Amino acid sequence: MNNKTEVIILKNSDYRDADALLNVLSKDYGKMTFVARGIRKPKSKNANSCSLFQQSIFHFDLHEQRSMQSLRTAELKYSYRKIREDLTKQSIASIMVEAMDKIDIEIVEESFELLETSLRFLDTTDNPMALLGLYIARICEMCGIDPYVDGCVRCQREDHLTAISLNDGGFICSSCFNENLHIKKDRSVLKFFRLFNKADITQFPLIEEITPCNYSDIEDILAFFMEYSGVNLRSLKFLQHISNLK
Ligand SMILES: [Zn+2]
Repeated sequence: MNNKTEVIILKNSDYRDADALLNVLSKDYGKMTFVARGIRKPKSKNANSCSLFQQSIFHFDLHEQRSMQSLRTAELKYSYRKIREDLTKQSIASIMVEAMDKIDIEIVEESFELLETSLRFLDTTDNPMALLGLYIARICEMCGIDPYVDGCVRCQREDHLTAISLNDGGFICSSCFNENLHIKKDRSVLKFFRLFNKADITQFPLIEEITPCNYSDIEDILAFFMEYSGVNLRSLKFLQHISNLK
């Protein structure tokens, strides 16, 4: 009784009447589902604290045997205002929470810290694509599906790397390159792909100083994640769309 926990909203879907179903990542319990009653009524006091990627404190009575908990009240802990004011950042935050919602998490503390740290960086950065690349690489690592970036995945040589192979699972060198199977990549794409897979999320301030990333710089790590996790990121379509407009 009288439980409270800090959460980040991963998914908010309409439920019967004016209710909503909330998938959240809780700092204490990991993934949880809440029924938020009356939240879609215009006068709901909880509505703002329950919108997507908001960080809030949820008050509820824990029923361990139930798959869904009932939300009593929610108070906003941190609002990512600058994310909400920027269409690209908003779409990146949606991808971040969707990926977290759709994977199985093993270590609660690590997952919460990764998402919270990433949203804080996203709020202030001028290089949001680089942050998404780094975040997705960390998610791949958590799922045990991170690509091989220490050399060529076929022969292990460390120089003359020229392509990224989804099927082989990492870098391909010029000797192993097969034009029927592989596509040559720009040096900057290869450089970022290695950086994303090598750096920790706390090292983002060093990465964001390098040239701003485009969507093409993060396409490969996104492809790796979706191919090997089996997750289809539905919110990716919108980011692709606005990246094409620029
Ligand atoms: Zn090779």
